[in-house]
Amino acid sequence: MTSSSFSALPLSPAQLDNLAQMGYAAMTPIQAQSLPLILEGRDLIAQAKTGSGKTAAFGLGILHRLNPAQWAVQALVICPTRELAEQVAAELRRLARAAGNIKVLTLTGGASARPQVESLAHGAHIIVGTPGRLLDHRDRATLDLSAVRTLVLDEADRMVDMGFFAEVLDLASTCPASRQTMLFSATYPDTIRQDAGGLLRDPAMVQVDTAHVAGQIRQHFHEVTDDRRFEAVGRLLLQHQPASALLFCNTKAACADLAAWLAHAGFSALALHGDKDQRDRDDVLAQFANHSCTVLVATDVAARGLDIPALPMVMNVDLARDPAVHVHRIGRTGRMQAHGLALSLCNADERHVAARIEKHQAEPLDWVALPPPRAGKAPEQAPMVTLLILGGKKAKLRPGDLLGALTGDGGLTREQVGKISITDQVSYVALDRRIAHQAFPRLKNILIKGKPQRMKLL
Ligand code: ADP
Ligand code: MG
Repeated sequence: MTSSSFSALPLSPAQLDNLAQMGYAAMTPIQAQSLPLILEGRDLIAQAKTGSGKTAAFGLGILHRLNPAQWAVQALVICPTRELAEQVAAELRRLARAAGNIKVLTLTGGASARPQVESLAHGAHIIVGTPGRLLDHRDRATLDLSAVRTLVLDEADRMVDMGFFAEVLDLASTCPASRQTMLFSATYPDTIRQDAGGLLRDPAMVQVDTAHVAGQIRQHFHEVTDDRRFEAVGRLLLQHQPASALLFCNTKAACADLAAWLAHAGFSALALHGDKDQRDRDDVLAQFANHSCTVLVATDVAARGLDIPALPMVMNVDLARDPAVHVHRIGRTGRMQAHGLALSLCNADERHVAARIEKHQAEPLDWVALPPPRAGKAPEQAPMVTLLILGGKKAKLRPGDLLGALTGDGGLTREQVGKISITDQVSYVALDRRIAHQAFPRLKNILIKGKPQRMKLL
């Protein structure tokens, strides 16, 4: 039996303290299985569903092999998207607090390259990036990979899907052969088995059964006809009233249509799909994460890597064609110790897909009748509204500056201000919906760090 206490691992007392401070009381199953091997220096292929704690598994491995006194890039983490890279970097920085002055730098597309070059010139221990931008820097010789000891491919399945794998292989070929290589993935299709084979030396395989998500997640299947599908979504949302829900459609067009339909019906709903530009995506994600938007409608591609802990509800408005994708989708609810509800709509043509899911999970599907229409019952609005401020990290704004200004000159109470998140260029502040609109005229004239700021309500 593997112990699930971090203290069973060869970690420093400072790191154990740090993990306790982060609220990590025990290892997750994937951590318990992989960390002993990772800390030994083994190459590794690890497969576990989203939200199972893979980042800390490789993060602790990276830090274990890192020499803080050596100012060279000692670890490279390749991720499929900018959002994922930012999330991974944030987690690495938290883990690195125990180890002193460790610089974690993200190199992703969408941001301009010049400041990245400057940051690289100042030195970094750990680089987290997306394949294209990493290759740019390598090819311009602004990124030196010759001291890399640990190479991590995160969400490898996604990188294969997005056609990035050739670039990943190219990057790996520049890292020293003596490195430790770890591949993390939510699914492990044969394509990766073949493509990545040459990257790893005698890899250990660690798998936390992805099909075994039952228990924490209640799954219901509902029969629908296509002309009633959106209406069924509305009825189910009214019935369950989730504080937030992630809805999956199979196409971008369906996402946009459903979000528009729901918004028209009075739900706080937004769509997230690959066609949106980065700022639009950031706006949508910020609003969903801070409870200004209750319902997010997304494609699999767009939702990949979203790190929203403990979603109470996931709904498959269209069934995923691939049972592994279905399991991955519903795994976004019922994370860690929380319970979740996963609803799936299914028309007559999708019955065979449902049958495949049933076979895959080796458990009968729970078919439940749709609730009756609720005449006159209006959806609840999201509790918050997002204030967008057109200044962010680049303008040296920090959460304390914003909170101070909003509760000072802005006249708000602390309780009226919710989550504050700050990107390079902009800041998002959740405000209590009951006061946001009447407070706005006053807010837009306040000084933040002594300067007026442009802002608007999203
Ligand atoms: P994955 O990469 O497998 O999708 P993440 O690494 O993003 O999952 O972790 C999901 C969430 O679980 C994060 O919010 C992370 O902070 C949290 N987490 C990770 N390990 C632990 C742990 N041992 N105890 C509690 N929370 C954890
Ligand atoms: Mg991850």
